Amino acid sequence: MSDKNVYADANATFPVRSQHYEQVMSLLATSDGNPSSIHARGRDAKVALEHARTAVASMLGARSTDVVFTSGATESNNLLIQGVIWKAQKPGFLPEVIVSGFEHPSVMAVVALMAERQLCKVLTAPVVDYVVTTGAVMSLISDATVLVCVMHANNETGSINPVYEIADTVAKKNPSIHMHVDAVQALGKIDLSEYAASSIHSASLSAHKVGGLKGSGALYIKTGTKLGLVIAGGGQERFRRAGTENLPGIISFGIRCQELLGQQETFTKDMAAAKMQFIDGLKNIEGSEVHGQPAQTLPNTVNFHIDRVAGDDLLLNLDLCGVCASSGSACSSGVTRPSPVLLACNQSEWVALNSIRISFTDTITSSQVEHILSVLESVTSRVRR
Ligand code: PMP
Repeated sequence: MSDKNVYADANATFPVRSQHYEQVMSLLATSDGNPSSIHARGRDAKVALEHARTAVASMLGARSTDVVFTSGATESNNLLIQGVIWKAQKPGFLPEVIVSGFEHPSVMAVVALMAERQLCKVLTAPVVDYVVTTGAVMSLISDATVLVCVMHANNETGSINPVYEIADTVAKKNPSIHMHVDAVQALGKIDLSEYAASSIHSASLSAHKVGGLKGSGALYIKTGTKLGLVIAGGGQERFRRAGTENLPGIISFGIRCQELLGQQETFTKDMAAAKMQFIDGLKNIEGSEVHGQPAQTLPNTVNFHIDRVAGDDLLLNLDLCGVCASSGSACSSGVTRPSPVLLACNQSEWVALNSIRISFTDTITSSQVEHILSVLESVTSRVRR
């Protein structure tokens, strides 16, 4: 990629390398049967499926039988949250769910829907200094708590939450409370190999955030966890998620996990250097402010705003100059709304509407970072004039 063609939106989706498509195609060529068929073709597909399952499980230090393949992390979060809430239903009891204030919509919208249907009550743990604290979660625990959802790393700010500490503390208080972690943005960038040995009960993963194909993901569920069934049908995925498996997506996810296993330092080395270079460069832009402590954010993510410079203006100019970046603000029906994540982080409406997220891939170069900074500088100086 040239300096004028910069992809800095890895947290939205991580580009698939052409060589990866070739790897997937060559494996698929020998395993395109239905993994549920008992004939030779089916068995070949089953081998490929289980090979991928082992690779994904290894990322979490887990057994392959604890991994359920899904259509992505949105589905994984749905299967888990709905599954726990359905399982907890009993007459005269309203289960309580604790979520952090800046979970992804695939968590927030699901718990809201379940609450609207009077299947649970939702309590929100506030975000303080861009992270969720153990104290904030513990202060909401009651005898009715059945589920705690805290993401490992936030997709917009990159903030890393103390999920092991939260899981341990919750487990000490009441081991029957289910601790779920959305690990989508952490995968590949943070070592997650302690998950299976920790007090975390389940985790959502997505292939396309680590350079795999879109529409594929996984739900890790600790052995022995009982969930209400959400997608009923055939007996695939050990009766935990019906439907013929998306073999191309799963093979792709398996290949990426195999490549990334134990490699997070190598994978993130250049991103981390680019992040620090970018944060240093921002210091020269008057009115810029980075959200969150760099030491407590993902190695590839910088969320920031520039005082009195509209986020749209920055994004549009970045795009015109060949830079793909994103804002946290959601746009629907032509109306841009402030980022719920930044509002949850106690930022003002203006900041939540005008912030930018830069999220680097592993191919980022120093001159590309310079290019991004120069675009930001020129927009800012034009606005200041
Ligand atoms: N959780 C987080 C933190 C995410 O960033 C995303 C993707 N934006 C999801 C869940 C949903 O993943 P998918 O696109 O695989 O449904």
